[in-house]
Amino acid sequence: MNNAYFKIHEPKNEPIFGYMPASKEKAALKAELKRQSETVVKIPLIIGGEEIYTENTVKITMPHDHHHVIAECSMAGEKELKMAIDAAMAAKKSWAVMPWEHRASIFMKCAELLAGPWRAKMNAATMLGQSKTAFQAEIDSACELTDFIRYNVYNAQELYKQQPNSVGAIWDRNEFRPLDGFVTALTPFNFTSIGGNLALAPAVMGNTVLWKPSTTAVLSNYYFMRLMMEAGLPAGVINFIPCRGVDISKYVIPHPDFGGFHFTGSTKVFSGVWTTVGQNIATYKSYPRIVGETGGKDFIFAHKSADVEALSAAIVRGAFEYQGQKCSAASRAYIPASIWEDVKTRVLAEAAKLKVGDVSDFTTFMGAVIDKASFDNIKSYIDYANESPDAEVLCGSYDDSKGWFVYPTVILAKKPDFKSMVEEIFGPVITIYVYDDDKLDETLELCDTTSAYALTGAIFAQDREAIIHMEAALNNAAGNFYINDKPTGAVVGQQPFGGARASGTNDKAGSVFNLIRWVNIKCTKENFVPSADINYPYMIEE
Ligand code: NAD
Repeated sequence: MNNAYFKIHEPKNEPIFGYMPASKEKAALKAELKRQSETVVKIPLIIGGEEIYTENTVKITMPHDHHHVIAECSMAGEKELKMAIDAAMAAKKSWAVMPWEHRASIFMKCAELLAGPWRAKMNAATMLGQSKTAFQAEIDSACELTDFIRYNVYNAQELYKQQPNSVGAIWDRNEFRPLDGFVTALTPFNFTSIGGNLALAPAVMGNTVLWKPSTTAVLSNYYFMRLMMEAGLPAGVINFIPCRGVDISKYVIPHPDFGGFHFTGSTKVFSGVWTTVGQNIATYKSYPRIVGETGGKDFIFAHKSADVEALSAAIVRGAFEYQGQKCSAASRAYIPASIWEDVKTRVLAEAAKLKVGDVSDFTTFMGAVIDKASFDNIKSYIDYANESPDAEVLCGSYDDSKGWFVYPTVILAKKPDFKSMVEEIFGPVITIYVYDDDKLDETLELCDTTSAYALTGAIFAQDREAIIHMEAALNNAAGNFYINDKPTGAVVGQQPFGGARASGTNDKAGSVFNLIRWVNIKCTKENFVPSADINYPYMIEE
């Protein structure tokens, strides 16, 4: 305990380094890329602070050079998953009662290690393992993850300040206890920052965690685990357990001490886990908290008054950055006929200029998609569009001879419910539907109802009345809504992120709304002058 209120200052977003020619950061990153390219890292499980190597291993390759192995990862099975649950439950005894300022200090140190000495290492691992360009890695594994840590610590302090009223001789107070049991973080491949954040946000609030990273992001996620250990995270607070997803559903989710689930990934996996939770509801010691941010079919909707240059740039950047593998990536667009030819010319000209290739070459704009399964899935949509009378592929192709490369693809849909207007593809593919200028309302209705998702969406218009009208019509179509900007690139602390409908529980990662899910509030009433009366005054008749 301490004898003071310590103050954590409101954070500022971590500045994005420019990686300009001859800059120190560029030289450091290039040296680290070379070092990591020449190494094969043996990745263990980390359970209760101990490294565990198993016989069951998976080779990790670079998506843009799929013969090049950069790591070999041990996989947990039933035995190790049970060990991890035991380790988390054991560590909880001291972690849950550690004075808050010491828990906060550990995570504040994580942020400074990441923004400083670990920056190049984390960015290089994200570039090589997940095929991100230097800029895409910088905004993810360096800046967003640092922001998540700093904001979580600050927001925890703000949450702890929330206290009830007290009247007279009574003192009422709230205590923000961690949840009963342990929390499971099941994390996606596409953001190193999300992987780290899903594991650490519940831990900031005093919970202990099982962290199952995505196998295709395991190198950067492993380095982040090591970083947290270097910052002083006690053994067992976060247990790093790469494994098959199905084993989590089999051995972890049904456990009676399963207390919370922190997920980002596909809608299908999230729904499957929620079903398993429902089937086991009678065995749990408490109702598990379930937080999941899932898929999207994010839109750009243009009005005839739109600035065509800005709209075209938003389509290109929004759809193709990080190969369209952002949950927020623009993947369908509604363009009025009067501006379509102009938009089409610009988008196709810009898409043709984008360099696709090895991300270690700093002149590339796009790397490869994450793995063969993803490549095959995206390819199937492009093939389908090529063969369909209801669509025209305006540009786009693929090549998997060296890496899982899919080139920027634009599909023109002749009907608004064409397959690629409706389903999440998770690749560099945008489908465009051209509408008659005088059918604005019908097309807004289509945009709102065509897909099951409601994650991000953008409208483009110069006419203010049109903006008001379109925003109202699409009020429930997105959890993150943009006016005259691309629908990607949410910044922690500025645009709290998450969507509704089939896009998740919308608990806004990095904000206080997310942290609330990881605490179990105890309210204490203390009476300084308790009454000795049994009868109430109303019982006296005269
Ligand atoms: P995914 O659902 O395939 O995998 C997520 C995690 O679940 C991985 O760790 C994976 O190994 C595990 N998993 C896979 N099958 C499982 C099973 N049967 N049981 C239990 N666990 C299982 O998602 P992904 O491909 O890693 O990520 C892409 C998806 O994530 C897209 O749908 C994207 O929209 C979504 N996403 C959403 C947000 C958001 O904030 N809404 C952010 C990033 C990504």
